Amino acid sequence: MLLTQSEEIWVMTNNLVSYVEKKSIDTIKRIYTLILLFFVLVVVLGVVQFITRYIIKDKIEFQAEHDALTGLYNRYYFFREHDKAIDNFLEQYRNFALLMIDIDKFKDINDTFGHETGDKALQFLAYALHEHCRKNDLAVRYGGEEFIILLQEIDADGAYKIAERIRTFIEKNSAEAVVPITVSIGICLYKKGYTPSSHIDNADKAMYYAKQTGRNKTVDFDAL
Ligand code: GH3
Ligand code: MG
Ligand code: MG
Repeated sequence: MLLTQSEEIWVMTNNLVSYVEKKSIDTIKRIYTLILLFFVLVVVLGVVQFITRYIIKDKIEFQAEHDALTGLYNRYYFFREHDKAIDNFLEQYRNFALLMIDIDKFKDINDTFGHETGDKALQFLAYALHEHCRKNDLAVRYGGEEFIILLQEIDADGAYKIAERIRTFIEKNSAEAVVPITVSIGICLYKKGYTPSSHIDNADKAMYYAKQTGRNKTVDFDAL
């Protein structure tokens, strides 16, 4: 009798120990799973943060350097690149030139066809400039309807040829693309002693001379 009871107690104890053991193992497994999930979550969040930070950084950098309407470089980016081009000229004698490009009678285009069509004309112009840039040239929206192209490694003849190609391309294709527009272009090859602003002013003077003498033409500052 006593033996049977003790055997039963032993079996019960054994079962209890097995039960507690199983429960403990289950609990430990659950804790491990939770820890693993926590680390996976930390890694996933880290990756997401890393990717978004880079996307946002790229976007902010792009917006800081580009014009929103045309997608061309903005004037702030241009000033930096212009300074670099002057350094290259002084250190390595690399000739470069500016084209100052202004749409003729653009106010009339807006007044006649509306501001939205005016915007489309600006986008067409940006496309035309971009198409005529070589690999290292820089097309810039300098102001409202004023654009600059920085032509790298070029002489006066080369700059004139590119300017005329741009001017005639716009004259021939703008009507079909949006509305008929023409541009006046001033060229200024960089010379030793020019400051960044005197170089830009000279290109501007040549462009204004083109305006005063009939528009839809290219004028080289050195020919004034
Ligand atoms: P000119 O041949 O002498 O250059 O004459 P213009 O009419 O082109 O010159 P003006 O400076 O009198 O007018 C420039 C116009 O450009 C006025 C302005 O409304 C327009 N403009 C400037 N920025 C924008 C823009 O982002 N979108 C549109 N649609 N028009 C713009
Ligand atoms: Mg104009
Ligand atoms: Mg203007």
